Amino acid sequence: MTWMDEWKENITTVDDLRRVLPMTEEEYERIREEAERFPMAISRYYASLIDPNDPDDPIRRMAVPSRTGASLEGQLDTSGEHSNTVRTGIQHKYRQTTLVLVATQCAMYCRYCFRRRLVGMAGETVATPEDLVDYLGDHPEITNCLLSGGDALIQSTDSLARWLNALSELPQLDFIRIGSRTPVTFPARINSDPELLELLKRICAKKQLYLITHYNHPREFTEEAVKAVRALQSCGLVIKNQTVLLKGVNDSPEVLGTLLRKVTSYGIVQHYIFQCRPVVGATNYFQVPLLEGSRIVNAANAMQSGLGKCADYTMSHPTGKIRILGEKTPGELVFQYKQAKDPARIGDIFVRKLTEEEAWLPEDPEAF
Ligand code: SF4
Repeated sequence: MTWMDEWKENITTVDDLRRVLPMTEEEYERIREEAERFPMAISRYYASLIDPNDPDDPIRRMAVPSRTGASLEGQLDTSGEHSNTVRTGIQHKYRQTTLVLVATQCAMYCRYCFRRRLVGMAGETVATPEDLVDYLGDHPEITNCLLSGGDALIQSTDSLARWLNALSELPQLDFIRIGSRTPVTFPARINSDPELLELLKRICAKKQLYLITHYNHPREFTEEAVKAVRALQSCGLVIKNQTVLLKGVNDSPEVLGTLLRKVTSYGIVQHYIFQCRPVVGATNYFQVPLLEGSRIVNAANAMQSGLGKCADYTMSHPTGKIRILGEKTPGELVFQYKQAKDPARIGDIFVRKLTEEEAWLPEDPEAF
C-alpha cells in the first residue's frame, strides 16, 4: 500500500471513528456537530495511539473533535496572516523570511490548529513555485523560505520536488524549511516513500533543509515515528521541534519535561514551546494561562541538560514572536520580542502584570 492509499483511509466521519473508539450517543452528536464546523481527519496510525479506555487521553484530546462542546470564543486569524499575505499563499511578515502555503491538507487535523480557517477547507488557495520565485526575485532581502500549509509533506513527492528544485537553485536563500507533522501523525508518509528520501538527500547536497516538526506528547515517539526521524536525518535534514503547550496534553512539568528529554535524545533540536493561540473553538479547551505556563516550562526545563532547555517559550503574536522569559515578581511576567513585524522592536523587553487567568496579550502593542 502506498502512503497515499493509506492516507485515503483516514478517519473522517464520526461513524468511522465510532468503529475504533467507544462513545456515548451524546458524544457522537457533539463530535458530529464539531466535525461539521472544522473537518476531522485522523490517520489510522495516530488513532491507534489513543487509549480507548481513557476519555481524557491526551492523544485523543488532540485528534478528536471536542467532547465537551468547546465554546466558539476566539479568532480565526490569530497572527494577522491575512495582513501579511502579499500574493496568493505567500506571507511576508519578517524581513528575511517568507512563509508559503504549499498545501491545505494534513495527515491529521489537530483540534487546536491556528490555521483551522484553511486546513481541510476549500477557499484560501496555495501558492505556486513560479509565483514564489518571481516574488523572491523582487525581494533580495529574503534569505529563507518556510514551506508550510497544511502540511508540506501532504502532497505528492513530484509536487514537493517542483518546490525544492526551484528554491534550491536560488543563491539568495541560505536554507529552506519544511513544516510537517507527518513524522508524528503519519510516519508512513516518510517510511514508505523511498523517492521522497532520495529527493531530500539530493536537495540537501545543494541547500540546507530544515524540517520543522511538532511533537506534543512523549507517547508520540513510537518506533515508526523514530524510524521516520532517523530516515530524515540520514538525508541530511536538521529536524527542529516546536511544541504547543496544551491543557490536558502536556501542561505538567513531568509530561513536558519528559517530552523535551525525548526530543533531545533523538537528535531533534529544540525550537519553540508555543503558547496556544486564541483560536476559535480551542481557546478555553486548550489554552494554559501565561503565568501557569511559565511555571510549567521553568519546572520542565529544570529537568533538562543545557541542550534540552533550548526551546523558547514564545507566543506568535500579530506584532511578532514574543518570548515569555519568566516571572519577575509574583504575577509579573517578563517578555522579549525575538522577532517583530516592526524591526525596531526586536530585542525589546517589557514587563506585564497578569491575572492567573490571562492566556494572551492584547492586540494593541501600545498597551504593553
Ligand atoms: S498538522 Fe499542523 S497545520 Fe495541520 S492541523 Fe495539525 S497543527 Fe494544523
